[in-house]
Amino acid sequence: MSFSGYKKYIEEGDLVIIYMTRDNMTPIYIKKDTSFNNRFGIFHHNDIIGKQFGSKMVSHNYRGFVYLLHPTPELWTLVLPHRTQILYIADISFITTMLEMKPGVNVIESGTGSGSFSHSIARTIAPHGRLYSFEYHQERVNLATTEFQEHGFGDIIKMHHRDVCKEGFQMKDEVSAVFLDLPAPWDAIASAKEAFKQDRTGKICCFSPCIEQVARSVTALEEHGFIDITMYECLIREHTVAPLQKIEFSEALKDAQERRAKGLPSVDSVAIKRKLSRDEPVPTADEIESTANLMLVSKTIGETRGHTSYLTFATFLPPSAIQVVNASSSSSSD
Ligand code: SAM
Repeated sequence: MSFSGYKKYIEEGDLVIIYMTRDNMTPIYIKKDTSFNNRFGIFHHNDIIGKQFGSKMVSHNYRGFVYLLHPTPELWTLVLPHRTQILYIADISFITTMLEMKPGVNVIESGTGSGSFSHSIARTIAPHGRLYSFEYHQERVNLATTEFQEHGFGDIIKMHHRDVCKEGFQMKDEVSAVFLDLPAPWDAIASAKEAFKQDRTGKICCFSPCIEQVARSVTALEEHGFIDITMYECLIREHTVAPLQKIEFSEALKDAQERRAKGLPSVDSVAIKRKLSRDEPVPTADEIESTANLMLVSKTIGETRGHTSYLTFATFLPPSAIQVVNASSSSSSD
């Protein structure tokens, strides 16, 4: 079963993501003569085998239905067994872009934790890139190794059981990107520097929940000659979208005057809001144009929740580039 490819029909042994609702999904491994129960009824694995991924399945006792989804790293992040805190997709996509991960790139990550980010990295760098994943907790190493194998990433992810802060990565001249999700990332920066390919620039990211950790990482990055040190915070902002009834300005003015005369608040007079009902699809732009006087407006909630961590990025400069920079700065000062 591979996360990086896509297959059409479900077979015994496959991992299927059972989708009940947007907020309620569960992973199951298909095994003949067993069944899966939930509030929508009983689903026999024998009936699932042979169905297409993506299909809708009504329960054996007709109480409801689920969708049978093909696993992806994004879905896995939503359903995986939590052995640690994990990275979610907003941070994952941002870090992947900033570290310039793409097919063929070699990457280091530490720690592996629950393997949430590892799945996305492996899919991004496949088939020729390698992810060297370091974790010092033996049980997490064992579980992650089995999971990566089962999910078709056995060749791409190389697991290492090691305390990287004490023993380092023990790699030289091999990777283009390093991601550190550790309590003390600054202790791994010297060793990360050696692991970078020495003939080109590389990118590093330290993921730390508090600003004191960021300060220590920045100091260590500067000491080891990293450049372009920048810190970001990835915050999720929800937008609620609703159609709003437009009315003519003269009508609105008249309405406002009448309301004022009656002592009513004027705020609702300029537009009549109609909220979308729970399952009503958001109208398309064409539908809005053709629907009399409707316009779509979006509103963000006042409070922005979702702080996960601060993301400190920096660039590794190869020794040859540092020589050039030093030479040009000394000649310009002559
Ligand atoms: N990024 C992971 C994910 O998305 O699932 C979660 C990582 S979790 C927050 C941090 C992991 O780092 C833990 O599993 C912990 O055991 C491991 N760790 C902490 N210090 C370490 C060290 N010095 N060397 C190796 N692993 C370490």
